[in-house]
Amino acid sequence: MEYLSRTPQTMSGLPDFRFHPMCKKLQLTHLIFVDDLMILCKGNVASVSILVEALAHFNVATGLEANLNKLSIFLAGVDEDTIRKILTRTGFSVGIFPIKNFLWGSSADNSKIALSPWEKIFQGGLNIKGSSYWNIASVGQLIWQIIENKESLWVQWVHGIYIKDDASIWTHKAPLYCMWYWKEINAFKVQMQGWYIQDKYKLTQSDIYFITKSYLAIIGHKLQIRNVGLIWPSLALPKHRFMVWLVVQGRLLTQERKLKLIIQVDNTDCCLCNEKAMETNVHLFHKCKWTSIVWKEMIQWTGTTLQNAGIIKSLDSIRRKHWKKAKKEIMEAIGGAILYHTWCARTWKKFKGKQIHTNEVVQLIKKEITERVNLLYSSKEHRIVGSLFNI
Ligand SMILES: [Zn+2]
Repeated sequence: MEYLSRTPQTMSGLPDFRFHPMCKKLQLTHLIFVDDLMILCKGNVASVSILVEALAHFNVATGLEANLNKLSIFLAGVDEDTIRKILTRTGFSVGIFPIKNFLWGSSADNSKIALSPWEKIFQGGLNIKGSSYWNIASVGQLIWQIIENKESLWVQWVHGIYIKDDASIWTHKAPLYCMWYWKEINAFKVQMQGWYIQDKYKLTQSDIYFITKSYLAIIGHKLQIRNVGLIWPSLALPKHRFMVWLVVQGRLLTQERKLKLIIQVDNTDCCLCNEKAMETNVHLFHKCKWTSIVWKEMIQWTGTTLQNAGIIKSLDSIRRKHWKKAKKEIMEAIGGAILYHTWCARTWKKFKGKQIHTNEVVQLIKKEITERVNLLYSSKEHRIVGSLFNI
């Protein structure tokens, strides 16, 4: 590999060879990544011919032959006629860079990923990384490198090609014609200027940039659903967690919400009880007699004294209790399970006419929680849990 990488260096000294326009200043002829060698030159027949000759020379000198099946040529900004000539001359196949979608997740039609309501999910503790903020944190690393990591070849390259005589990345303005990612970096950087004080990175305590830490610092400023204060235990089934989030956000399509959205509803009453009460979030998950029975049964099973005060208050009060972590996790998971199965029972009744008995749901939740505890807790934790509950 070392000899192979010296070959393009030698070829760059030949009179007809032209550097890739973006690599001219650094006289960059190649990059090595693990076992891959990327040779760079201007997209004209003369330069590519020299490159092919250099590879042939390498073949004669070492007896090693490049595997044509593994060689690809990447062309950009080259006219059709030249492309045809280059491909005829080299016999290489045209490769496609699989890179563009990596950071920004842009789709073929360039539509942006919807931030709302998804950004609330990311902020709400479901532990799904928000693509928007994750991108900012990722681009932040590139900015950090430009400022801190002067030795990096890429940093030298962007300084040579783009930043040039500008005082810093902050005062630099992306030229009209530049690489797509340079435009993106410059579009994002405005949001990052506040992370630096006199060019010292201050967003996190570490001197070194970590994307995850920065991401957490960014969303930390944006957390709005603090009152929920959820631990979001891995114990809770993901579908249950998601249900809690929907309820907390008021996004479930209850009869009350349908009315607000001017969706026609025939009957606004709760279908789980005979109370003739409007189906609202508060009724369905707090006041409803059907739900109250399930709640009571579950509380009895766990031997705790937790009141059903509505999901937000109940979860908040679990968080404030001086209970062992395992107990809090189980109680939160049970809260999520009750919500989930209440909604399922309501859907079965409303759309399939099937009444689900509270006892069925109670047995199902007990089974689910027991299985999760057995699956996820170590034997030590399991003993602790066993002493707290009849699991
Ligand atoms: Zn009801």
